[in-house]
Amino acid sequence: MAMRNSASRLSFLAGRAVGATLRPMHCAALHNTASDTQPKKESDYLLGTLPETMKAAVLWEPRKAMTIEELKLPRPQVGEVLIRTKACGVCHSDLHVMNNDIPFPIPCVLGHEVSGEVVEHGKHTDSATIERLPVGSRVVGAFIMPCGGCFFCVKGQEDLCESFLKYNRGLGGLYDGTTRLYMSSSGDPVYMYSMGGLAEYCVVPANGLAVIPESLPYSESAIIGCAVFTAYGAMKNAADMRAGETVAVIGTGGVGSSCIQVSRAFGGRIVIGVDISDGKLEMAKQMGATHTINASKEDVPERIREITGGRGVDIAVEALGKPATFKQAIMSVRDGGRAVMIGLAPWGATADIEITRLVRRQIRVFGSYGGRARQDLPNIVGLAEMGFLKIESAVTQKAKLEQASNVYAELEQGRITGRAVIELR
Ligand SMILES: [Zn+2]
Ligand SMILES: [Zn+2]
Repeated sequence: MAMRNSASRLSFLAGRAVGATLRPMHCAALHNTASDTQPKKESDYLLGTLPETMKAAVLWEPRKAMTIEELKLPRPQVGEVLIRTKACGVCHSDLHVMNNDIPFPIPCVLGHEVSGEVVEHGKHTDSATIERLPVGSRVVGAFIMPCGGCFFCVKGQEDLCESFLKYNRGLGGLYDGTTRLYMSSSGDPVYMYSMGGLAEYCVVPANGLAVIPESLPYSESAIIGCAVFTAYGAMKNAADMRAGETVAVIGTGGVGSSCIQVSRAFGGRIVIGVDISDGKLEMAKQMGATHTINASKEDVPERIREITGGRGVDIAVEALGKPATFKQAIMSVRDGGRAVMIGLAPWGATADIEITRLVRRQIRVFGSYGGRARQDLPNIVGLAEMGFLKIESAVTQKAKLEQASNVYAELEQGRITGRAVIELR
């Protein structure tokens, strides 16, 4: 892939580029004449012969190990794409479902951070979608898969997509209200958390996908769809970060260390990693942290003030979803600063905020859940392609589908530094 010009580099640094600026570059070789790209033939919809069944890791009961089951091959509907899954990231949000912290229908297939190959489009999908994601292309999927048509998607706030929250997070399916997953033996439905990436194949709404270049490996690219996507959404859409600002990231696991990388890519001057694990802090330095603080040994807001000339940081990110660190983030920002909360907590958890400081010191508190797939995902791929985001060093462990339950157990025990991915083939 050719180097980009300096103007587009700058627009990435400022976090301002729109998705459309990248797309023609990724698909340059695929832009043939209009007649070539019309989905007229069966081959435009489908790649080769597909099996009738697939393997998937199914969660039957909270706090029990997932089992590998045979499911019917999922069928994409209009506007949806069947992906041959190559890799799926191991993320804390899945643990919230496994532990029943967050209600979700079961049995289900977890895994919401995927890379893979496009093998089939749903019938009657429009030609622009087929042209953007040709059969055979290499893709990553964002965990928030925008419907494209709801109140928020129309406004460009795809990270608030109502259909995603209602039909996927609420009902475990896609936007016609049904799942795409069924047991091979009984035909009983199996629900899908995002696309249900812990399976050999998955169905993803086309709006949640972006093409990746040959230079980005499948396994490492999987983390773009949640860890990096969440970090990018927090730093660009919630924090509205500018070059030269100072940042502290509290909790430097998979998403937190991605926040550090994105902050550096956006031109962060001082980027402080905060954790209680020396291993994770070492990793934070490798991801670009200029300073680290071990919260079990030092007073975090006090130490942050020391590093920032007595003021506090412009932006503090809380990536753990814990009441104590929520408060810590607010206490770590300068007057007029922004505290961005990205850590999910058990349903109903609350945290304290010191009202008078918030009012007098004009502290701004934001929640941020993810990114905006159609705008942000192509930009994130571009940052990774240019080396501003080092996805390869962020992935520290790889395992097979059969080992998925063990890897999630290790994640829960805090034994994974960086990010683990499940490789499907
Ligand atoms: Zn995730
Ligand atoms: Zn929507």
